[in-house]
Amino acid sequence: MAPIDSINQLVESHNKENKVMIWSKSYCPFCKKVKEIFNNINQPYKAYELDLEANGAEIQEALLAKTGQKTVPNVFVANKHLGGASDTEAAFKEGRLTQLLSGDDKEYDYDLFVVGGGSGGLACSKEAVKYGAKVAVADFVKPTPKGSQWGIGGTCVNVGCIPKKLMHQAALLGESLTDAKAYGWSTPEKNTHNWETMVQAIQDHIRSLNWGYKVQLRQQNVKYYNKYASLVDKNTLKLVDRSGKEETVTARNIVLATGGRPIYPDVPGAKECCITSDDIFSLPYAPGKTLFIGASYISLECAGFLHGLGYDTTVMVRSILLRGFDQEMANRIGDYMEQEGIKFLKGYNIVKFEKLEEGTPGKVRVTYKNAEDKIESAEYDSVVLAVGRKPLIDDVGVQNAGVQLHEKSGFVITDNADRTNVDNIYCIGDLAEGKPELTPVAIQAGRLLAKRIFAGAQKKCDYENVATTVFTPLEYGACGLSEEDAIKKYGDENVTTYHSNFTPLEATVAHRLDNGCYAKLICNKTDDERVIGMHVVGPNAGEMIQGFALAFKTGATKEHFDDLIGIHPTNAEIFTTLDKTKAEDPAVTGC
Ligand code: FAD
Ligand code: NDP
Repeated sequence: MAPIDSINQLVESHNKENKVMIWSKSYCPFCKKVKEIFNNINQPYKAYELDLEANGAEIQEALLAKTGQKTVPNVFVANKHLGGASDTEAAFKEGRLTQLLSGDDKEYDYDLFVVGGGSGGLACSKEAVKYGAKVAVADFVKPTPKGSQWGIGGTCVNVGCIPKKLMHQAALLGESLTDAKAYGWSTPEKNTHNWETMVQAIQDHIRSLNWGYKVQLRQQNVKYYNKYASLVDKNTLKLVDRSGKEETVTARNIVLATGGRPIYPDVPGAKECCITSDDIFSLPYAPGKTLFIGASYISLECAGFLHGLGYDTTVMVRSILLRGFDQEMANRIGDYMEQEGIKFLKGYNIVKFEKLEEGTPGKVRVTYKNAEDKIESAEYDSVVLAVGRKPLIDDVGVQNAGVQLHEKSGFVITDNADRTNVDNIYCIGDLAEGKPELTPVAIQAGRLLAKRIFAGAQKKCDYENVATTVFTPLEYGACGLSEEDAIKKYGDENVTTYHSNFTPLEATVAHRLDNGCYAKLICNKTDDERVIGMHVVGPNAGEMIQGFALAFKTGATKEHFDDLIGIHPTNAEIFTTLDKTKAEDPAVTGC
């Protein structure tokens, strides 16, 4: 029999050296259950199987003397006695396990507090509870200057992707009604659209999503605060509700996911006379003759659907369309929109806005100037500002916790694991400096972050080569480099671009889009013609590029695309038959 001291020493050293120590028996189902809990959260553990060791019975006696527990499993976490199977399970379910694992002895109200219940914040909080963390999320929407406000779910659900795509669809349906005539359908001489009906139907859908999120949070045990959250220090948050009532909570980890809101330029009358994308999707009256200011995603998408719904639409462009995108593609989108009847005021800057008439929508005089300072003005029923978005961080108290912001942009600086300069404070989604401002990016970052904090995972969000689509009347899908960036990066001589026009079969009967769509693959000659950029302008480009993005991500070459047998007749098959380089005419004839 080993001396008691050496057995005690063995127990002590095992408990000390292993973050999770399970005194176990190899056949015991309760021990298996406990191991499963740690396996599920990717937490390594050491199991000492007492039935397989000669000193097992003596160790069990020593454990009884130390803990008052005779049964197995006997679990220690961070050298602290946790208990048996039911104790471990309860600690996991109540979120205490992650606290014990962190080795931080302080008691906090939450293991994780997420500020912002948008795409990123909701994804992160729902993932974190899966690993037993005690989680809360605060979401609060300050009304726009015009008074628009909305429920939980953030930008995407309420004033972004969802209503935008539905209005895009409303416009495409109008186009289909026109095409339908050519296919033999009897339709009215002039199709008319009711703005109020569309807005009501879309808002009803959004409200059902808001409701669904609240139910999910309740069912998954995430505490939801419909309160404005701000940092008091690195572990403390102040929560204020709509009536001004305050409370304070503490959290071991904090995720900032407050997103952004539209910018109002510093121009007289901007706030008084204009609306933004935060207002347009719930606008209770038809906007009438509308001017969009800005020339990127939001402006072009909203101008596209408004024109499709029958409104007189103008876009004011101060420089180029879709900065950062392949400019050949951006101009093809612009040309198509212009051809369809959308007006473009190119090379103009805003001078002032004046309200001429109150009303729904009322009337605004817009004064603008060109590069030679020539002043012009025009009247519009509605003016939509789409000049970029600013981070929602001003009142979040980051200075109280020492969180560093980007000097110029004001967005939160993070490392490649989404951590700020403060060790327990993270940031994901639109609020993070230099990351693509897209819903799936925020969701992926949120999920992976929760796994890293609470489940011992290592994987980080890959922010490179994220596929995206601009939902203009002819959609534009892209993944990877623009042609100009490819040439800049690899040199003109090392880049081959294959391209082709195409005509969607479904548009031929209505005599639309004759050679009006376009696809290109940009390849790196020095690397087996690996595809480094792919771009397409055409119907459903978003659906197309989503599938091909996987090939892109897994390193497909031009030969892989050539070897792929297409599905006929589809638009996507164009990528399997690209045989003309930029030196050749991309027009096609025949099937
Ligand atoms: P958000 O979704 O903005 O959520 C942040 C939430 O935090 C908000 O509800 C906010 O009110 C709340 N909040 C802020 N401060 C506090 C605080 N102190 N306390 C409590 N709550 C707070 N992306 C796509 O991928 N595809 C698209 O088609 C697309 N279309 C878009 C169209 C438009 C018009 C816009 C504006 C954006 C679009 N986006 C699109 C971008 C997408 O919506 C965002 O990238 C995404 O919503 C970002 O998610 P997030 O979680 O970072 O922030
Ligand atoms: P962007 O920041 O992409 O573009 C702002 C536009 O406004 C640019 O064309 C810019 O011109 C112009 N602009 C800026 N300041 C002024 C000014 N003072 N006067 C006139 N024009 C001005 O913003 P968006 O709001 O379009 O989009 C924000 C983000 O939201 C996007 O980056 C995207 O990630 C996301 N989004 C995604 C969508 C999708 O996935 N389909 C759809 C909508 C948004 P200039 O180039 O000269 O600076």
